[in-house]
Amino acid sequence: MWLRNDLRMADNTALYRAAKSCDALAVVFIACPNTWASHGDGDNVVAMRLRSLRQLQATLQKKNIPLYFLEVPTFGDVHAALAQIAQKLQIDALFANAEYPVNELARDHSVKSALGKLGVTVEYFTDRTLIPPGSLTTGSGDGFKVFTPFKRAFISAHSNSGEAFGSLPTPRTQPADHLSQWPEWIALDGEHNLVRSIPDTLTGYGVAAGGEGRVLDWPVGAVAGARTLKKFADIIDDYEEWRDFPARENTSRLSPYLNCGAVSVRQCVQLAVAHNDGRWDGPSKGATVWLSEILWREFYQHLVVNFPRVCRNKPFKPETEAVPWSDRAEDFERWCAGQTGVPIVDAAMRQLNQTGWMHNRLRMVVASFLTKNLLTDWRKGEQYFMQQLVDADFAANNGGWQWAASTGTDAAPYFRVFNPYSQSKRFDPEGAFIRAYIPELAEVSDRDIHCPPQDLFSDHSYPPPICDVTESRKIAIEAFANLKK
Ligand SMILES: Cc1cc2nc3c(=O)[nH]c(=O)nc-3n(C[C@H](O)[C@H](O)[C@H](O)COP(=O)(O)OP(=O)(O)OC[C@H]3O[C@@H](n4cnc5c(N)ncnc54)[C@H](O)[C@@H]3O)c2cc1C
Repeated sequence: MWLRNDLRMADNTALYRAAKSCDALAVVFIACPNTWASHGDGDNVVAMRLRSLRQLQATLQKKNIPLYFLEVPTFGDVHAALAQIAQKLQIDALFANAEYPVNELARDHSVKSALGKLGVTVEYFTDRTLIPPGSLTTGSGDGFKVFTPFKRAFISAHSNSGEAFGSLPTPRTQPADHLSQWPEWIALDGEHNLVRSIPDTLTGYGVAAGGEGRVLDWPVGAVAGARTLKKFADIIDDYEEWRDFPARENTSRLSPYLNCGAVSVRQCVQLAVAHNDGRWDGPSKGATVWLSEILWREFYQHLVVNFPRVCRNKPFKPETEAVPWSDRAEDFERWCAGQTGVPIVDAAMRQLNQTGWMHNRLRMVVASFLTKNLLTDWRKGEQYFMQQLVDADFAANNGGWQWAASTGTDAAPYFRVFNPYSQSKRFDPEGAFIRAYIPELAEVSDRDIHCPPQDLFSDHSYPPPICDVTESRKIAIEAFANLKK
């Protein structure tokens, strides 16, 4: 079994199928730091992956299943490494769960072909998504470009019958002497060997920052994921009403677990459907809306398969390639640092920088602010999020950025621009979230906290707003309107 972002033992399709089909099972994980870095994966998401992997190794050990680790520089090195491993360990079948961005698909194609030449069967399974990407199409056979019709089609095809997505049991325990039958390590060509120890970090990567509320404090693994899911079940009914209020912590915070695979998407659906009297749109409005968010995740995963140009640094809407993005480097730096002088934007960016996570409402606000008010290329924001997020996922991140920048699948026209001050008043009315991340504003009144008067900061402890939101909105709308001419 070749593990990737599916780091759990229960309800893991490929692992279950491998254990069922094979007399002797070993698991391998291959880290590719150069490719990961070129994809923008930062220290935080890599740390989450390595820590989760270590937990999983301990869990698998209890089932007498060995987990090997290998580092190779790039995806292009994986097929040769796996071919060597297959030969040295006398493997006759390889199982893995499918991944969908173009480079992952190319890597998996090369692996299948290289191992096929050695007589090793390679099978990839649908596991990261509820259904295979590409399998749900419009009447004319194309991939969906807009979320709402995708969601309608999905629900009508897969949930009218009340069918929930089942979950698979953990693989059976291998015989007691199984672990010792596999070598401790294997020498391979190249710089690294196949080993059983998992490092804290990889070539070119640092260790993520620890400390209160920081990335190294995220509890990892399937147990932590299951606990997070269970905790969310207690508040899921309130999700519809409170999910947009960042100070209330009413969302599930499952994204880091879903992305490294410590929790499966089927486990999420099961929980919500069970809570909803066995239906997708049952009596709990909270569960119904949450299932809709799970389908946003599904939609963006399908999008990268149906429209692979988004994996090539291209906008989903080709005409938006011509937007005259600004090259003011200082604007971008102030946005990254949470020093724009717009409190809700700064508090959100500081939440990201400190914890590796940001509330969804705020991801939309800061992305709209960067791409519309500061007219900065969405790709810069996308990249910065990949670097910082503990839940960084190409499909969701690219989808979210392009949606906010009006270069993507948003059905609303480009002149939807979030006003950060109205968003702040509406979703953080007392400024509790702002105060939690901007100590400089701790003493500012509830009334003034969203847009504090400048005379409060004669000591320059907090900067003046980086732009006039009304003026900058007009400029952005004009830039987009000109594209149509
Ligand atoms: C600019 C931008 C960038 C984003 N980057 C990422 C990213 O790198 N990784 C990531 O997982 N999500 C990303 N999202 C989506 C969303 O913000 C997060 O999934 C969500 O905030 C995670 O918190 P939660 O687990 O508490 O979500 P909940 O509200 O509890 O939702 C449950 C799950 O549904 C999925 N989900 C919810 N909203 C979305 C959405 N809009 N798009 C896709 N999936 C969604 C996530 O898997 C989430 O864990 C991004 C959104 C935007 C606007």
